Amino acid sequence: MEDRKEGVLYLVATPIGNLDDITLRAIKVLEESDLIAAEDTRHTLKLLNHLNISKPMISYHRHNEEFRCDFLIKELKEGKNIALVSDAGTPGISDPGEEIVKACIGENIKVVPIPGACAMINALITSGISTKEFCFFGFLPLNKKNRKEKLEEIKNINKTIILYEAPHKIKSTLEDLKTILDKNRKVVLAREITKMYEEFIRGNIDTILEKADNLKGEMVLIIEGNLEEKENELNNLSLDEHYNYYEEQGFSKKDIIKKIAKDRNVNKNEIYKQFINKEEV
Ligand code: SAM
Repeated sequence: MEDRKEGVLYLVATPIGNLDDITLRAIKVLEESDLIAAEDTRHTLKLLNHLNISKPMISYHRHNEEFRCDFLIKELKEGKNIALVSDAGTPGISDPGEEIVKACIGENIKVVPIPGACAMINALITSGISTKEFCFFGFLPLNKKNRKEKLEEIKNINKTIILYEAPHKIKSTLEDLKTILDKNRKVVLAREITKMYEEFIRGNIDTILEKADNLKGEMVLIIEGNLEEKENELNNLSLDEHYNYYEEQGFSKKDIIKKIAKDRNVNKNEIYKQFINKEEV
């Protein structure tokens, strides 16, 4: 912990289910902070009890974020070190945190991340869907118009899409997604990650919808990007750019030629001729 005139705001990631998923550094910061700002103090108390830590706590949640910011900034300016935690996972990711971070930056107060669990990242890496590029949307808006707009946006995204959803809303969200996703799009529902009933349901939107009535617990949806959009985008590149795109991903010359031919729907010999002198990667 740093010795500065002003305090430091630590953004401390906490477990998303399994209480062992907390880093040594996170424990140290919680132990050494002067104050813990928690989304729900009762919830965080369970974690602190598990870790044998006793600390003053203050609530910092969506409904008091604005006025709590002023108080926390005042404490930080007086030299207190504050650990910010949410109920689970990484603060600021579909959880409170953004406002106090902005306020600290505005006041030149140091902000330090203490990395750890995050549901979307763990769902993504286990999904089997491309991890190269992805878009995280958090929870879909509930307002009809905003939701429709968001779904339209999602429809054409050529990167992996990540959504959070609550169990009682998953069915209607899947039904809405069905209206914009083609049948072949891969979808994975990651449920209860790190908990006893952890499950990954892999398939397409229909596979997941079939099970929607019985889905309980916390869940993340991972959706394959719109590959047609990706193809269009690739085919707008020059042949060299198209080649470089796959080369950067580590494909061999032979595979790159096959892939370009497939994307452009042409015979691979035609593409081969263009790159005959290109060295093997
Ligand atoms: N800040 C958290 C993070 O870093 O992932 C997210 C908080 S957000 C309010 C809660 C949502 O995260 C849940 O509705 C669910 O979509 C997802 N989530 C949290 N824990 C999860 C878990 N163990 N398994 C699957 N999804 C989880």
